[in-house]
Amino acid sequence: MSLTADFVALLGIERVKTHPLERHVYSRDGGISLGPVEVVVHPETTEEVVDVVQIARRHGFPLVPRGAGTGLAGGAVPTQPAVVVALTRMNQIHEIDVASRTAWVGPGVINVELSQHTARYGLHYAPDPSSQAACTIGGNVATNAGGPHCLADGTTVVHILGMELVTAEGEVLILGGAAPDPPGLDLRGIVVGSEGTFGIVTRVLVRLSEDAPATRTMLLAFGDTAGAAATVSDTIAEGVIPAALEIMDRLIVRAVENFVQAGFPLDAAAVLLAEVSGHPVAVAAEVDLIADLAARHGASSVRVAADEAEAALWWKGRKAAFGAVAQMAPDYYLHDTVVPRSRLVEVLQTVYEIADRNDLMVMNVFHAGDGNLHPIMAFDAEEPGTMARVKTAADAIVAASVAAGGSLSGEHGIGLEKRDLMKTVFSPVDLDAQARLREAFDPAGVMNPDKILPTGSRCLDYGRPAAAPVVS
Ligand SMILES: Cc1cc2nc3c(=O)[nH]c(=O)nc-3n(C[C@H](O)[C@H](O)[C@H](O)COP(=O)(O)OP(=O)(O)OC[C@H]3O[C@@H](n4cnc5c(N)ncnc54)[C@H](O)[C@@H]3O)c2cc1C
Repeated sequence: MSLTADFVALLGIERVKTHPLERHVYSRDGGISLGPVEVVVHPETTEEVVDVVQIARRHGFPLVPRGAGTGLAGGAVPTQPAVVVALTRMNQIHEIDVASRTAWVGPGVINVELSQHTARYGLHYAPDPSSQAACTIGGNVATNAGGPHCLADGTTVVHILGMELVTAEGEVLILGGAAPDPPGLDLRGIVVGSEGTFGIVTRVLVRLSEDAPATRTMLLAFGDTAGAAATVSDTIAEGVIPAALEIMDRLIVRAVENFVQAGFPLDAAAVLLAEVSGHPVAVAAEVDLIADLAARHGASSVRVAADEAEAALWWKGRKAAFGAVAQMAPDYYLHDTVVPRSRLVEVLQTVYEIADRNDLMVMNVFHAGDGNLHPIMAFDAEEPGTMARVKTAADAIVAASVAAGGSLSGEHGIGLEKRDLMKTVFSPVDLDAQARLREAFDPAGVMNPDKILPTGSRCLDYGRPAAAPVVS
């Protein structure tokens, strides 16, 4: 039987997509690359995932796991005709243990829906990517996703206790577990952030966090980004780690305001959205401290949300920032680098200069507390020569971040789009160690090939140049 006939026999025609239009939809994610899809399958159980892996292997096709496709690094984009394994139908919350604050969930559960579901117990799942209304827990695990509230709570890896993984050989492994210090090697920690290259995550044991007794959200306006960034650094230097510290520059504030009318000040050069949570007395003191520091750094206004509805509106504005860019230009390329907090302003200045030099519009919205920059270049890809300028500017932004003591990615992962830049931060020995680990999980190199590790990392690449990204 053909590949498709085998899949149809396993899953039924409804859960096997072969139409060119359907395959096109799955040929890209939220980044700028696209690639060839042979067929898309929608398994609903671990057993079906095992069979999918075996069928793909029998027919000689690689596998690309996929959640909601909101990734921004081309992680779910195939580089060669591949079986795309869409996990979105595995969206059950299997069990919640309120006493131990854990839950076993399917990889296709949408991030925000998990917290909505556990709210009745006064619990939530802490990592909150701005894409949380669409992205999946499986995708979050695979990218070690961050989010505005990961400043105090830590990124995804801190909140994943265990998982079920279907390997490239079709074996089912349970990694980690609910015990405080599970015995054996920590393979759970290795799979988090492995971007689908170690296997397909089919169930996840997440840690749930208790809702804070008090939360206050602040909106602070500044005449320059330096004042906002200095307020962030000084707050943390005072020993206070707020739940979130997010900065937006003038252009993005305007785009957001036009899009969702969040009540952001249009005359500000930078807006800082700060949130503190915990015991009501501590929260009140922290609000005063941040207001004080902001005044010292020239804040033109300091507002504290009057109620939950106003706070929610401000957060809606922050989380709609990427979507708001669509009003400025038909295409955008969002970068994700990390720099030491103390060098935020200097690197940001370099980002503006790089954009100017390449004749590109750039907007900035970022997780300032942990130095995670998100410069967004907005452009029209149809204009001849634009993509080359975008690529030049993107590489220069990464180089500037690395030169300032930062790194390639704060949360979106390496995928396809940053793969060839790995050599700027890792030595050949580092890359070889990573490649050997990957080889242990996937000796034949069939699980999301050509991702993360550049050509020449190790013997998997012998004689075979890694496929280059195709940009749209
Ligand atoms: C508007 C917007 C805002 C965003 N904000 C943030 C943010 O604040 N923080 C952040 O970290 N990211 C952010 N992102 C990026 C993206 O949402 C995250 O990387 C998210 O974790 C991807 O989840 P997904 O379900 O869409 O995964 P996909 O894009 O489908 O896949 C991402 C990677 O995970 C792998 N994968 C997916 N599911 C599985 C599985 N079950 N098993 C094994 N591998 C799997 C894929 O192969 C791929 O390599 C944003 C994206 C957008 C579009």
